[in-house]
Amino acid sequence: MLDLTYDAPKPKVIAGATGDWELVIGLEVHAQVATAAKLFSGASTQFGAEPNSNVAFVDAGMPGMLPVINEGCVAQAVRTGLGLKAEINLWSAFDRKNYFYPDLPQGYQISQLYHPIVGEGEVLVEMGNGTARLVRIERIHLEQDAGKSIHDMDPAMSFVDLNRTGVALMEIVSRPDIRGPEEAAAYVGKLRQIMRYLGTCDGNMQNGNLRADVNVSVCRPGDYEKYQATQDFSHLGTRCEIKNMNSMRFIQMAIEYEARRQIAILEDGGKVSQETRLYDPDKNETRSMRSKEEAHDYRYFPDPDLLPLEIEQAWVDDIAASLPELPDDKKARFMGDFGLSDYDASVLTAEVANAAYFEKVAEGRDGKLAANWVINELFGRLKKEDHSIEESPVSPDQLGKIVGLITKGDISGKIAKDLFEIIYTEGGDPEEIVEARGMKQVTDTGAIEAAVDAVIAENPAQVEKAKANPKLAGWFVGQVMKATGGKANPAAVNELVTRKLGL
Ligand code: ADP
Ligand code: MG
Repeated sequence: MLDLTYDAPKPKVIAGATGDWELVIGLEVHAQVATAAKLFSGASTQFGAEPNSNVAFVDAGMPGMLPVINEGCVAQAVRTGLGLKAEINLWSAFDRKNYFYPDLPQGYQISQLYHPIVGEGEVLVEMGNGTARLVRIERIHLEQDAGKSIHDMDPAMSFVDLNRTGVALMEIVSRPDIRGPEEAAAYVGKLRQIMRYLGTCDGNMQNGNLRADVNVSVCRPGDYEKYQATQDFSHLGTRCEIKNMNSMRFIQMAIEYEARRQIAILEDGGKVSQETRLYDPDKNETRSMRSKEEAHDYRYFPDPDLLPLEIEQAWVDDIAASLPELPDDKKARFMGDFGLSDYDASVLTAEVANAAYFEKVAEGRDGKLAANWVINELFGRLKKEDHSIEESPVSPDQLGKIVGLITKGDISGKIAKDLFEIIYTEGGDPEEIVEARGMKQVTDTGAIEAAVDAVIAENPAQVEKAKANPKLAGWFVGQVMKATGGKANPAAVNELVTRKLGL
């Protein structure tokens, strides 16, 4: 792997009346495990199913029902941990977090407070311009999701949909290593990318399959470095937690708003009180939901219905051996093997499918040219029509042939765009179409010479002007290109025009 070195990006600074403030952010990301069945029941996890159709007795909290762990969910959590270069705990355990909520019929959530399945890891978050932040992961634990209360269907009643109750979530807890709104979004984006590569979470934020609780505090310049040196949280400000954010844009807006709210309180001589807040995107503000003082007493205790979870190192090793090439490695390889820029390599590795497409186009061809065509022409065109790469009417083989024709000098870049358009709309074999429709670049100097001679003979006045001002030779090149339908080799035309005009 190529060794990429990055500088640390600067933290976001907000100037206050009493001096500068810096932001400190830690995220608790909830990622729905990509599996067919729930964490402790065989009920389906299918999104959008008829309300209450995916509910096993144990999900509904029926007396006497016992949870049975889904091995697939455990494997996905381990896989995610390995993808985040984290420590895997061979021994973990489930606890009950007790609280009443209508969409949680058990009366408690099964989670892993004391002994999570995954320990410390790290994520490289690139911020462009050769900068990146290494964000430390504190832990990942498995827990159950809750259902959904519906209050807006009837004026007198509330409804509940338990389809989501008991679905497996991975809670990925970061250290407070994130230093600004853009970094927070980029961090969530990187987690999403890695989990999509791993196939452990589909990352669909709109459906709520990936959402974040965002912890924000502010401190004075220098304080964060003291925290880093000692890991002593007392150097940091009091944090507030903004719950359940499922939009990259709102995450950033909420952080910005929340930091300014805290700064205003502090500059006024007040104290930030640690609390849970909700973000209201319509008003762009955060509102208090519950304070730490009134916080629920969850009375956590080990779930007596579940044995501690013991897994074997050999099983973990098998999962490790099945991991795909991860985004950082793929990007470094693309930069090394194909000579791509950091930016192009990032764009091409954003999604596995994009990367695979590019590799097929570039195989045995000019990698940089292939990258240009995939990013600028293909992605540009697909985006305009709101198509995914899977829906591309142009196959990697077809685009590869177009790139090959350009490299060989058979077609110019301009003709290649026309050819791309034909393939995109009509399909077909690029090499055959170039032959059949006479699109080949004319490199035969005899033919070009005849065209140059004709244009010179027809335009005596222009010839005089060009002789007085050689800059006007470009006009002749344009005319010859037009006369040859853009198929003449531009370099050859240029050379001939200059020579024939005696410039
Ligand atoms: P809790 O379980 O009460 O939410 P944790 O200690 O697990 O508390 O922390 C939750 C999140 O808050 C973590 O992501 C952590 O990095 C973050 N965090 C802790 N202290 C701060 C702080 N001073 N500023 C910003 N984020 C913080
Ligand atoms: Mg929390």
